Amino acid sequence: MKFGGTSVGDLARIKNAAQKVAREVERGYDVIVIVSAMSGKTNELVGWVNETSPLFDAREYDAVVSSGENVTAGLMAMTLQEMDVPARSWQGWQVPLRTTSAHSAARIDDIPRDNIDAKFAEGMKVAVVAGFQGISPEGRITTLGRGGSDTTAVAFAAAFDAERCDIYTDVDGVYTTDPRIEGKARKLNKIAYEEMLELASLGAKVLQTRSVELAMRYNVRLRVLSSFEENTDNSGTLVCAEEEIMEKNVVSGIAYVRDEAKMTLVSVADRPGIAAAIFGPLAEAGVNVDMIIQNISEEGRTDMTFSCPVDQVARAEKAVNEAKESGSINFHNLVADTDVAKVSVVGIGMRSHAGVASQMFDALSSEGINIKVITTSEIKISVLIDRKYMELAVQALHDAFGLDKAA
Ligand code: ADP
Ligand code: ASP
Ligand code: MG
Repeated sequence: MKFGGTSVGDLARIKNAAQKVAREVERGYDVIVIVSAMSGKTNELVGWVNETSPLFDAREYDAVVSSGENVTAGLMAMTLQEMDVPARSWQGWQVPLRTTSAHSAARIDDIPRDNIDAKFAEGMKVAVVAGFQGISPEGRITTLGRGGSDTTAVAFAAAFDAERCDIYTDVDGVYTTDPRIEGKARKLNKIAYEEMLELASLGAKVLQTRSVELAMRYNVRLRVLSSFEENTDNSGTLVCAEEEIMEKNVVSGIAYVRDEAKMTLVSVADRPGIAAAIFGPLAEAGVNVDMIIQNISEEGRTDMTFSCPVDQVARAEKAVNEAKESGSINFHNLVADTDVAKVSVVGIGMRSHAGVASQMFDALSSEGINIKVITTSEIKISVLIDRKYMELAVQALHDAFGLDKAA
């Protein structure tokens, strides 16, 4: 059972969550509980780091931002003890949850079961584990990237062969789109791993992308449900194999990323190796390039456009300008548009259905929304548009694909 930030946002909510855990213990389960930091806490910690040291030491960043989960883990264990449920807390390093050394974006390598299994054997009923954190081979504290407690939860479910992995959050499941943006968004009873993976990686923050990847790989029965409602075994949304799903819309969801930027290198020499000369330095600078388009070439020169998160624009500009100074690339000017958002439609039905792209473009054009960049893959289509139209685009597409109605 994993409880997100809002679900452990204050002592009353921790108690509410603990009651849900106690109920599972009464039903005969041993439970591993993964907790997030109290809502807002991680953002506050990240803010403190940035204020102290803009070019921070990533190891110290992790030492600071991982701490919110330590508080909730201890409080959750105490709350359970107060209810006479035998429980204790574990920080990541105590398990130990072993990760790579990629600070702030570490990957889980191994979760040995011995320590926790030994306590279950002694009669402990609940192991409360601090989400989001682990320990590197060098013995330093690591974190798994924002939203990483979801991944901690799925990894534990896989390591302990759990019957289920229940992700308790502030919505009662996965919706056709973010219910905060589209009031008509509909809760899905089931969603295929692959669709959830696309939605998560295209911005739906209800589950961290990596958690869905792990669930798919290890066949974890992953469920998203509300911590503020009474639930049954059928509540929420089950993330499962495609074969288990009867109801099939061509498009099953819409995701967005609000804070994107589009950068164009105007008039670059069009010659073999030019893309490598541009995107190599960007990768080295840690810029997460998403979409790329190279426009037609005229007289041996071309325009190269790419998108990246808006908070990486300064880094991207620096990398590209340094490459220009070193002579490895040459362009007339660099244009950054920092007011764009990405909106994507996702559905496994697209594999066997033509016409989704034109339907999408029609819906956007009826609202007068200009499309700046388009990319597609087998089960998704993404567009970059002006940020001010993002909500409108999500709503228009939700209507156009009839997502408020079941298939
Ligand atoms: P937690 O703190 O529990 O991890 P998050 O804030 O990370 O919760 O994720 C839950 C939020 O995800 C919801 O409040 C909702 O606004 C947002 N969200 C975005 N897309 C979706 C979607 N398709 N279905 C449900 N929630 C979504
Ligand atoms: N507290 C961390 C974050 O806000 C991890 C999580 O909640 O999943 O990103
Ligand atoms: Mg989350």
